[in-house]
Amino acid sequence: MDARYVLPTYARYPLELVAGAGAELLGADGVEYLDFVTGLSVSNFGHCHPHIVAAIQAQAASLIHCSNLYVTRPQAELASRLSALANGGRVFFANSGAEANEVAIKVAKKRAAGGGGGVIVTLERSFHGRTMATLSATGQPEKQAPFAPVLEGFVHVPVGDQTALETVFREGKVAAVLLEPVLGESGVVLVPEGFLKAAQALCEEHDALFMLDEVQTGLGRCGATFAYQRFGLSPDVVTVAKTLAGGLPMGAAIVGGRAEDVLVGGDHGSTFGGAPVVAAAANAVLDLLGEDGLFSRVEERGVRLEGWLDRLVESGAACEVRRLGLMAAVDLVGVSAKQVVLDALEAGILLNATSEMTLRFLPPLIVSDEQIDRVGRFLATRMSAGSPGEGI
Ligand SMILES: *Cc1c(COP(=O)(O)O)cnc(C)c1O
Repeated sequence: MDARYVLPTYARYPLELVAGAGAELLGADGVEYLDFVTGLSVSNFGHCHPHIVAAIQAQAASLIHCSNLYVTRPQAELASRLSALANGGRVFFANSGAEANEVAIKVAKKRAAGGGGGVIVTLERSFHGRTMATLSATGQPEKQAPFAPVLEGFVHVPVGDQTALETVFREGKVAAVLLEPVLGESGVVLVPEGFLKAAQALCEEHDALFMLDEVQTGLGRCGATFAYQRFGLSPDVVTVAKTLAGGLPMGAAIVGGRAEDVLVGGDHGSTFGGAPVVAAAANAVLDLLGEDGLFSRVEERGVRLEGWLDRLVESGAACEVRRLGLMAAVDLVGVSAKQVVLDALEAGILLNATSEMTLRFLPPLIVSDEQIDRVGRFLATRMSAGSPGEGI
């Protein structure tokens, strides 16, 4: 049924999943899989966390939907909490990361329109979503090509190339800079701190908006509420999604600073955005995010995972490791990362490859040392054998 009736836009693994708890997923084949993908940084507190499940169940039994024509407490409370966690701004609730970025783009465009327009600068190899505007923002020509012409007004500069960024500012009007602090889909590419700071300074100097896409990096993944807080940045707009509602669809744009007053009544809307059940789930996620010691544990587990990946480099099986918090990647040498993902599946481990050479690791933030070691041992064995790992 899947092969015949679902539009084939995904390259799917031959695996049907039926249940999940903590860091494990249960296959229809009866096998338990250790999940180091987390739905791409969605199930960060593990699958079916009891606190999130209870919040969804309770809210579903009292009010599921009523329209954004009315006020609901879960949404208002969530907005106030996100504002306090981020830049003190106001929140627009959407249903995905792409939709959250659409808000950022609309804010930048509307604000610039009064002053003669201006381009939005993003990074080469960035990923901001699959809608037409976010595809246009995405710095990957091969993704844009089938849908050309994409929206005008986006300029892409290489990661870390401050001179290229300065040139864009010097040569014309810039409405906004939109950055992923760590490029997730492109294989956990860390944007240099100096470049991030220079981008913010240029935005301030030229009255452009400084906007950060924290859809993948935000809400604990990088060992802080937002990755940008590790670099002391202060964005006008922050976008979040993925883990925000613990697996229910929700995106949010937190619009503050010089952007806060741009959108007014009638400028934007969403039928489902911020509806009670997703908002209740997101409030439960923020409860978990606020637990004492979470960020230091995320960092410790990240260091442990990195230790295993470093060993692959020492043995010559890999050439580079990149990591921030519990977002990590390794570039393999002489072995297809996609083949390693298939071998891991055979060994009961879910891994993700972002390219032919790069493995990306997004374990749940609650992953145990033993679970990290299991994956580390699998990789060590697999890479030294050059064939599917055994004895895991
Ligand atoms: C996943 C992702 C998006 C898109 O989110 P969707 O919910 O799939 O629309 C946008 N930006 C970044 C950085 C992402 O990782």
